[in-house]
Amino acid sequence: MAFEGLTERLQNAMTKLRRKGKVSEADVREMMREVRLALLEADVNFKVVKEFVNKVSERAIGTEVLDSLSPGQQIIKIVNDELTELMGGETATINYSVKPPTVVMMVGLQGAGKTTTAGKIANYVRKNDNKRPLLVAADIYRPAAIQQLQTIGNQLDMPVFTLGDQVSPVEIAQKGIEEAVRTGRDLVLIDTAGRLHVDENLMTELSDIKKIAEPSEIFLVVDAMTGQDAVNVAKSFNEQLDVTGVVLTKLDGDTRGGAALSIRSVTGKPIKFVGQGEKLDALEPFHPDRMANRILG
Ligand code: GDP
Repeated sequence: MAFEGLTERLQNAMTKLRRKGKVSEADVREMMREVRLALLEADVNFKVVKEFVNKVSERAIGTEVLDSLSPGQQIIKIVNDELTELMGGETATINYSVKPPTVVMMVGLQGAGKTTTAGKIANYVRKNDNKRPLLVAADIYRPAAIQQLQTIGNQLDMPVFTLGDQVSPVEIAQKGIEEAVRTGRDLVLIDTAGRLHVDENLMTELSDIKKIAEPSEIFLVVDAMTGQDAVNVAKSFNEQLDVTGVVLTKLDGDTRGGAALSIRSVTGKPIKFVGQGEKLDALEPFHPDRMANRILG
């Protein structure tokens, strides 16, 4: 299960305080040492951990908290609040263009779950926001990527635009948007190519697509199971493309938590959705407060 180790260690660190009627500064420092180790072990970025620990300590070590009637409870609430804040505070939503169609670009490394997530988002916005999406197959390099998107389109009973793999992705994106206008589709989801690693050719291609498609959203899809790698990938994609949000996939696996807790702080971009399985309805908006509760158990 996701966050299992982290939850257990944070709970251990905090139960000691919970039981105490009186909490000293030394007690808080000891708890925070344990919290720090728990976060580092969960593969949270070390700078993020440092800032988090400083913030919580600063708020917790004050006469107002320590001399209060239930200091333990208050400190636990501070940890909860700051965890929520770390993940962005508010729930982020999709930006729709005032002038349809809204264009959404899906980007990410191969295997992160980009194509599947394109289908999941199409399904989500149709169900929840009454949108009529068109899926556009602009990954012409990975064998079977186009067919995979067509299969997803069939499962969802949703149209998929393709020009095969002999036309440039930029042209596919452009024609895809024209097709959406022609057929009255108000949302275009462009599935772009990924690579095994971040490389310059890929970034150039994605920038070119961005230029002509003028997307309202660029969703970066990252695999939560890859921990700090996911955070580094998010950082480079964001530097090159200025993404608008992150979708964290495979949160149904036994991820330690590092990516979920670090991405917002390292990139400044919100996690907008999380993927919790292979099925096309296994996608949920990301709620920082609920995630903090889940992590604290
Ligand atoms: P792409 O190369 O980035 O387009 O990745 P795909 O969409 O082909 O996904 C790669 C694999 O990850 C597939 O087997 C997907 O079913 C799987 N996958 C995607 N999202 C999730 C998720 O949230 N949870 C789980 N368990 N598997 C996922």
